[in-house]
Amino acid sequence: MKASEIFGENVFDLAVMRDKLPKDVYKSLVNTIGSGAPLEPGVASVVANAMKDWAVEKGATHFTHWFQPMTGITAEKHDSFVSPDKDGKAIMEFSGKELVMGEPDASSFPSGGVRATFEARGYTAWDPTSYAFVKDGTLYVPSVFFSYSGEVLDKKTPLLKSMRALNREAMRILKMFGYADVKQVFSTVGAEQEYFLIDKKDYLKRKDLIYTGRTLFGAKPPKGQELEDHYFGAIKTRVSEYMRDLDEELWKLGIYSKTKHNEVAPSQHELAPLFASSNLANDQNQLIMEMMKRVADRHGMHCLLHEKPFAGINGSGKHNNWSMSTDTGVNLLDPGSTPAENSRFMLFFAAVIKAVDEYQDLLRLSVASAGNDHRLGANEAPPAVVSVYVGEELAEVLKAFEKDEKYAGRKKSVMKLGVDTLPDLPKDTTDRNRTSPFAFTGNKFEFRMVGSSFSLAGPNIVINTIVADVLRRFADELESAKDFNASVHDIVVRTIRENKRIIFNGNNYSEEWLEEAKRRGLSNLKNAAEALPLFAERKSVELFERMEVMSEREVVTRTEIMLDNYCKVLAIEGLTMSEMVKRDIYPAVDSYIASLCKTAEKKSRLGASSKVDEELVRKLSDAAETMWTKTEELDRLLADARSVEGAAKQAAFFADRVLPVMQEIRIVADRTETETPKGVWPYPSYGELLFGV
Ligand code: ADP
Ligand code: MG
Repeated sequence: MKASEIFGENVFDLAVMRDKLPKDVYKSLVNTIGSGAPLEPGVASVVANAMKDWAVEKGATHFTHWFQPMTGITAEKHDSFVSPDKDGKAIMEFSGKELVMGEPDASSFPSGGVRATFEARGYTAWDPTSYAFVKDGTLYVPSVFFSYSGEVLDKKTPLLKSMRALNREAMRILKMFGYADVKQVFSTVGAEQEYFLIDKKDYLKRKDLIYTGRTLFGAKPPKGQELEDHYFGAIKTRVSEYMRDLDEELWKLGIYSKTKHNEVAPSQHELAPLFASSNLANDQNQLIMEMMKRVADRHGMHCLLHEKPFAGINGSGKHNNWSMSTDTGVNLLDPGSTPAENSRFMLFFAAVIKAVDEYQDLLRLSVASAGNDHRLGANEAPPAVVSVYVGEELAEVLKAFEKDEKYAGRKKSVMKLGVDTLPDLPKDTTDRNRTSPFAFTGNKFEFRMVGSSFSLAGPNIVINTIVADVLRRFADELESAKDFNASVHDIVVRTIRENKRIIFNGNNYSEEWLEEAKRRGLSNLKNAAEALPLFAERKSVELFERMEVMSEREVVTRTEIMLDNYCKVLAIEGLTMSEMVKRDIYPAVDSYIASLCKTAEKKSRLGASSKVDEELVRKLSDAAETMWTKTEELDRLLADARSVEGAAKQAAFFADRVLPVMQEIRIVADRTETETPKGVWPYPSYGELLFGV
């Protein structure tokens, strides 16, 4: 079958809607999708019926509201279409009410205390701005999730609200630029997803991978990624087949992906989809992650989405390419070629720069997790310091504006926005700065700090909201300005002057940059335990309330949930480590020591030298003892952690007290692994996991 024939086969997208819905219903639904207008009465039941007929044709017998609780993954509850007709005969039915509203048993999703147990009921409601799809004989209806009293319990709702805020403020500005035909502005996201593939047999032999998604132990193999040649050997064809299969699965769901073998680390790969509205991109990314795992299983492999599955080689991120687009197809971060387009571009561009500078901490904490802590700042991913890369040409332009100077090579005296034309800004794809956490790449920004296992919702809620907040202030000023062009010019110049400290075009991995960043007063939140509590600070609460994205209570409960998650992840890692040492590693090393002792004894009876064996016995005994003692200490700390009051304090305890001991245990264990035979060590080595040897 040709690839194009399966494109979108299983998704109820605009093309299918146009085909399957009566004209007026289609128009009304598109209006709801486009402008956020409430659904007109009667529309839901017609859409539900058309969806059901279409889904049944695709073999569906069930439907589910598909939603995104605070776990960061998705949840669903299946119901069948079957209902009795008047005569008691079974027919396939799906009512408007069932499409619009659902009531899953929701009492076990994290709510940070929002949903008190006496009102354990949670409700789901159809989100018509994303697409329904058929998977596994089930019609999936993308939905939001909230409590009986209307409190938001999911990640999708605030994302939609942040898009609404951005739309509102951007529209005010576009109106003044004369974009009369534009009805809506929405943020767009294309997220490049990195992942590792390993053999399933090896995966199943590693408790750490099974329980925590990352290796807690593992000595460096003789070869890592230094040659950057990305060795595949025997698994190469398997990986290619996997990628083809994965692409096809995703294409059927309307996710136009391209898988690539281009990552730096061995066994690491990347997938980039076509960009979409943030909301759709977020739903699609959830499906991408799910399909990656599922298709891997089919191919005898396991897909690791953890940010740092292996120490010593690159971790995985999810580069969040972000821009703003109008419903008429104008990318607001495209510099364009006329003075008017340039001027619009510079204003929106300046808004992003200002937003990133003013809300560095929010961006930082939106990507904070136990997993991503191993990646950020580890000389392979962006540092924990947020800065913006704009590229050399744009840097020159900004400098010219800032100083009201001539732009080099131009005849005109001083550039005026709205009057002059900007020099051509090359859309550089070749020498863009790979070390920057927030890079302008020609017509979009790329936020590179997002971890590979993250939901896209969190970071994009933040980006949309902070940019909307700055656009709001720009719009206030512009609406009362006498001379619009002059005022745009002033705002851009002032923003460059006030917020230029956030711009950095050099090497973000260097020590000098961290010192320079400190001098510039940029924040440097080292880990999730430091970053996450800032979410509930005044400045953040006020922002989300002002922009009508989240209430104070929602922000506070979300902070608790994130901190709680951080603590739980580290507790599981600590317990897993303890079990591995006490039940597997120590006994294995000990029995090897016993066999060495026996050999040494025999050798000396025969008058042969047993020096090496004896030395090894001493060395390994010391190491095993250290490992055991440190593990006892870890056990005590894990018990103590439980009695630390307050989520933020507990998180700090894990970061400052538990993690360092885990690191010490690992160092001893990894050294011991290199001195223990392959058959004795209880787990497949890094060499086996990454290179198959
Ligand atoms: P690269 O050279 O990094 O592959 P691409 O232009 O192919 O750059 O983009 C990488 C990702 O950025 C893709 O997922 C793509 O869909 C996404 N992307 C491109 N344009 C936009 C945009 N305007 N808004 C959001 N994402 C975008
Ligand atoms: Mg990228």
